[in-house]
Amino acid sequence: MSVTEYDVVIIGAGVTGLTAGALLAERSLKVALVTRGEPTACLSTGCVDVCSHNDNPILGIRELPPEHPFRLVSEKTVRESLDYFQAAMKDIGVPYIGSCEKNRSVISALGTLKVSCLVPSTMEAAPQDTDESIHIITFQGLKDFYPGYILSRRKSTGFSVYDAGVDSTMSIAARFEEKDFLEKFIIWLEKLNINETKIAFPAVLGLESAAKIVNTLTTIMEKPVFEIPTIPPSMPGRRLFNALKKNFRKKGGAIYWAWPVAGIEKSDNLIEAVTTHSPGRPNSINAKAFILGTGSFVGGGLTATRETIVENVFNLPVHVPGTRETWFDNDYFSLNHGIGKAGIIVDQSMRPVNVPWKNIFVCGGILAETEILKNGCGHGLALATAHVAAQSCAEYLSHEL
Ligand SMILES: Cc1cc2nc3c(=O)[nH]c(=O)nc-3n(C[C@H](O)[C@H](O)[C@H](O)COP(=O)(O)OP(=O)(O)OC[C@H]3O[C@@H](n4cnc5c(N)ncnc54)[C@H](O)[C@@H]3O)c2cc1C
Repeated sequence: MSVTEYDVVIIGAGVTGLTAGALLAERSLKVALVTRGEPTACLSTGCVDVCSHNDNPILGIRELPPEHPFRLVSEKTVRESLDYFQAAMKDIGVPYIGSCEKNRSVISALGTLKVSCLVPSTMEAAPQDTDESIHIITFQGLKDFYPGYILSRRKSTGFSVYDAGVDSTMSIAARFEEKDFLEKFIIWLEKLNINETKIAFPAVLGLESAAKIVNTLTTIMEKPVFEIPTIPPSMPGRRLFNALKKNFRKKGGAIYWAWPVAGIEKSDNLIEAVTTHSPGRPNSINAKAFILGTGSFVGGGLTATRETIVENVFNLPVHVPGTRETWFDNDYFSLNHGIGKAGIIVDQSMRPVNVPWKNIFVCGGILAETEILKNGCGHGLALATAHVAAQSCAEYLSHEL
């Protein structure tokens, strides 16, 4: 068995793990991130939802029930975590716009208005109501985007179809990275003589360069241009993931990709190592502290069995909201699904309660009582709780090292 030593091991490559990891790595700690695979961010719109209950997300958080994990985070930390995120994303070239004082709307793939807090700059010009006229450009054969849904909900909407020669979200996005393709596309676009106020595209305007491409199109067309998130695979979600990964690596963190944690080594009051199934031989990754960011059911952090709900890495105690009858519902994405309350209960330092180990911190989607869909608080909660966990972990290590 190969053995490697770190100050901190992060488990999970979601918004939570990559954020906590970057914060610790920039304190010159030796940080490894171990992940089974891609996070739920890749399925998301890429927009950072903080709290959808109020026009002002900070006020919305105050309205959440006292047991919600956002209530463990000070408003100062929520603000700092969003500021840190915006600064890091700007640096990487995937800028986000918005403020924690005001929610805004983006058009969803279904043509409804989705409320969010920070949105990729490529969605900045999204209309804030249904009255503004838009012209949608879609692509021949693209299956992840249905302009018909949007046309049926918005008056004064026109649309045109371009043949990009390829028809998947990823391949069209890749073509937009080619200079010749972009030039040819612009010539076609200019000839359309669009009368509507704004021009909308499915979110395929580049893999990494979308912000620049939207700016170029806006300048040339002399009209606001914006992207509409498609159904998964979502380019804005993937751009978010890639940008967070770059940020983590830039700060000096190491990623062990496709290494699911298969076991742990522990003493009475410390976790000492995680062991992983990895190609070739098993590995033991030792560390002084551990941050669990494995997400909820979709991410793989929790599993529901016929009898109960289990946490898959450390077998931490899981808050199970009542009997199976009270939380079982075939529609996982229903807003009031009882299972949305399941997860790990933590204290103010993001340590799980009722466990003997003092060197483990838990944050993000795996926390109990989040009800992420109902409260519209996905990536925002991940960012804020990752900040608290990283801070608590750094304080713990400063006493231990
Ligand atoms: C379909 C969908 C759409 C969403 N859309 C939005 C949106 O538009 N805006 C928004 O703000 N929020 C959205 N959310 C919520 C948001 O994605 C999550 O709340 C948030 O990103 C949680 O991030 P996380 O890092 O805690 O967990 P996750 O993103 O779930 O990441 C978990 C990570 O842990 C890894 N992992 C799991 N088990 C193991 C193991 N045993 N060993 C090693 N690694 C492991 C996984 O591979 C993954 O990398 C959406 C959620 C879903 C499911």
